[in-house]
Amino acid sequence: MAFCPICNRAAAQRGDNPALPFCSMRCKQIDLGKWLNEDYRVPVPFDPDADDRPFYSPPHEDKA
Ligand SMILES: [Zn+2]
Repeated sequence: MAFCPICNRAAAQRGDNPALPFCSMRCKQIDLGKWLNEDYRVPVPFDPDADDRPFYSPPHEDKA
């Protein structure tokens, strides 16, 4: 038994349910909308246009 990742209800098995792994086409559309709204976008670790400090800056060892 699979459960819909959107509404958490039981999803019908393959064959009965073209929207797998979702329970319905409606939930599939909701998931697609999330992607389009970039809710799922992975943060970009490096932005070549950013003229800011990197996320990790090593400690300076320039003390004489
Ligand atoms: Zn659902």
